[in-house]
Amino acid sequence: MQDSDVIVIGSGIGGLCTAGLLARYGKRVIVCESHTIAGGAAHSFRRRGFEFDSGPSFYCGLSDTQSLNPLKQVMDVLGESIQVIPYDPLGHYHFPEGTIAVYSDAERYWQEVERVTPQGAKELQRFTARLLGLYEAMRGIPTLALRSDWQVIFTFIKSYLPSLLKMLPYLPLVQSSAGNVMDATVKDPWVRRLIDLECFLLSGLKAHGTIAPEVAFMLGERSRAGVEYPLGGSAAIVQALVKGLERWGGQLRLGCHVEQILVESSKVVGVRLATGEILRSPIVISNASIWDTYNHLLRPEDLPASFRQAALDTPAVDSFMHLHLGIKADGLENLTGHHVVVHDSNQDITIPGNSCMISIPTVWDATLAPAGHHVVHAYTLEPYTGWERNQDYAEKKSQKAQSLYRALERIIPDIRERVVIELIGTPLTHAHYLRRYRGTYGPAIAADQGMFPSTHTPIQGLYRVGDSTIPGIGVPAVAASGILCANTLVNLQQTEQVLGELRK
Ligand SMILES: Cc1cc2nc3c(=O)[nH]c(=O)nc-3n(C[C@H](O)[C@H](O)[C@H](O)COP(=O)(O)OP(=O)(O)OC[C@H]3O[C@@H](n4cnc5c(N)ncnc54)[C@H](O)[C@@H]3O)c2cc1C
Repeated sequence: MQDSDVIVIGSGIGGLCTAGLLARYGKRVIVCESHTIAGGAAHSFRRRGFEFDSGPSFYCGLSDTQSLNPLKQVMDVLGESIQVIPYDPLGHYHFPEGTIAVYSDAERYWQEVERVTPQGAKELQRFTARLLGLYEAMRGIPTLALRSDWQVIFTFIKSYLPSLLKMLPYLPLVQSSAGNVMDATVKDPWVRRLIDLECFLLSGLKAHGTIAPEVAFMLGERSRAGVEYPLGGSAAIVQALVKGLERWGGQLRLGCHVEQILVESSKVVGVRLATGEILRSPIVISNASIWDTYNHLLRPEDLPASFRQAALDTPAVDSFMHLHLGIKADGLENLTGHHVVVHDSNQDITIPGNSCMISIPTVWDATLAPAGHHVVHAYTLEPYTGWERNQDYAEKKSQKAQSLYRALERIIPDIRERVVIELIGTPLTHAHYLRRYRGTYGPAIAADQGMFPSTHTPIQGLYRVGDSTIPGIGVPAVAASGILCANTLVNLQQTEQVLGELRK
């Protein structure tokens, strides 16, 4: 007796996209989510009338019908859409030497850089042109058509041969890092740091660690489809995916922690919940991280020892300090929504506390806070090591939040006097609420040191999705991981049919 065809562990964007698509393909799907709120890193939470995004706030191509964004493609297939607010400039980067506005429109962005370094602006133009060429080539093949097994060859031959031929000149770039493209096009040190910063914001690694297609996708989508914020915050995206899942008969169980993936004779047979309940299913898909899946959800003997060790040795990006604030909004009429503050130009941008990311979503959607207030989320990298809930915890928390307050003072000088609600999150908070190993942002797999693992595992019937599988970290990437996994579990005709219905 099976309880379902598929069990998905976790309702991160990766898990929800996989589950929704499989439900759309006609599978009986149950999603088990530990938390009482769906969305994982992208979930929102409410305190005293303020709606806080716990993670992502920067989105491209959520509404454009031609968007390459895999998340948009999944929402389309599920028959869901969300309302968005487009905006430009997409953000401001504040360096000790000065501030630049970052525009989605590439021409305007280069003009802004020209004010700092005319030669650098020309070089940035060459860097961007090279990557936009790759983006244009990628546009011919929708992620929705792809899968993670050899049958993808038939898809290419049957439907995408001309697009594949267009990709040929860019093949070396597909496997390369953005750093290699930068080395070939940019000498100006200021622009090199700018590129490193943009890559760091994307992947948690600088240009040499970030794969070129990821940067090409980001530059292409932001200049072509534009940057936009979902009305209702990140929660609106999660709600749309949950609605889509349920519309196609899938089930989401919240507060449903999976304790163990059950394996018999090297085959998955189901999961055991923390309550002791057993759910039987021939396919289990884990949206938990690589470390959480292989360390906590399986017994060591379920996996080949060398495979398990190599997986657990995957390096991890640090965790975060978070500062969530509700503030009085009077006199802040010209505020813009996204900022990155680099405190010290002589220190590496990746050093914890040096680069601070800020999002003020009430600039776009005032309903996220009580009237006359803004909601603010500031965060910066912070190592997990050294954090303990002991007698010094409160003091350390408050002290570590100071780099975030100093960053906010660049944008709102009297921020401290405006605060009506303050929530400080540490790596322990991040690990706890997101159920993530050491609260990590994701795997630190540098472009030249290997690829993110695929959806497959050595155990029959067990698959993985999310930011520790290919193509990597970020909302579009984890949606893509969901597509790759779901399509691998159905036949080519089913995928073609869904694509065909979408084109009608
Ligand atoms: C601060 C921050 C800012 C970010 N900003 C952006 C941005 O602006 N744009 C962007 O594109 N990306 C951004 N990202 C990255 C992006 O949010 C993530 O890469 C993505 O959301 C991860 O999704 P996921 O599906 O891989 O996993 P997760 O979101 O980690 O979801 C995994 C889910 O599995 C659940 N789970 C784990 N173990 C179990 C278990 N045993 N039983 C049941 N459930 C379990 C967890 O509770 C969780 O809900 C940001 C991330 C952070 C942290």
